[in-house]
Amino acid sequence: MQKDFQAEIGIIGGSGFYDLATDLTEIKMKTPFGPPSDSLGLGKIAGRKVAFLPRHSKTHTIPPHRINYRANIWALKSLGVSRIITSHAVGSLQKKIRPGDLLVLDQFVDRTGGRDDTFYDGPAVTHISTAFPYCPQLRSLAINQIKKFGQKVHEKGTVVIIQGPRFSTAAESVWFTGMGWEAVNMTEYPEVVLAREKEMCYCAIAVSTDYDAGLVAGGQVRPVSAQEVIRVFKKKINLVKKIIAAMIENWPRKVTCRCQMALKEARFN
Ligand SMILES: [Zn+2]
Repeated sequence: MQKDFQAEIGIIGGSGFYDLATDLTEIKMKTPFGPPSDSLGLGKIAGRKVAFLPRHSKTHTIPPHRINYRANIWALKSLGVSRIITSHAVGSLQKKIRPGDLLVLDQFVDRTGGRDDTFYDGPAVTHISTAFPYCPQLRSLAINQIKKFGQKVHEKGTVVIIQGPRFSTAAESVWFTGMGWEAVNMTEYPEVVLAREKEMCYCAIAVSTDYDAGLVAGGQVRPVSAQEVIRVFKKKINLVKKIIAAMIENWPRKVTCRCQMALKEARFN
């Protein structure tokens, strides 16, 4: 635990989130896994102590496959963070999920390779359950707050995480769509499972920015331009910020989930 700085809630997203907080201080942290993506911003929202971390660094120079996910999660845990809210841009794999829609993710499919995705390399052999990797209590909170803003929200969503940095081929994307999965991105894994390994609640609000290659190549939808993607994302990020602030303003008094007991039945020795 860092002696001088503490936080209760972690927020992982873009650097634009910093202006949500009052009394902001930035600190550089070291971890056993190397440095986190950037310095952490510590401040308060609605009287609660929060820690911000820009996933790709403030200057957006770290590509998805090079993010030090372990350092990021370790840094938040060492500040005392017990619950994490995140935002992600995703591609839509289903026609019904339009650019600009929000999803509160509830499942993932991992298609990454070679990422450092565990804190438990031995000798304590540890198998956490990821049957339900997202915090049910924070998911409900997010869905309820999103609805208050009158925003279209998909209350469930399976995200397939690809290794990147390349996008999917049309064939891969058609496969993902055919499996019934809703969204594709490059950053959700292993962030979500590392949080669970550290017994932290994790919630992901995903912004659909475009239709993925399979739907476009199959003629089901028109391609979305890069400019449109940026416009949609920028517009929605302001909304996501408001939603996160509203979640913290309505923060639950009691923890009703089991995320923070993930290690109880996970150990062999
Ligand atoms: Zn939880």
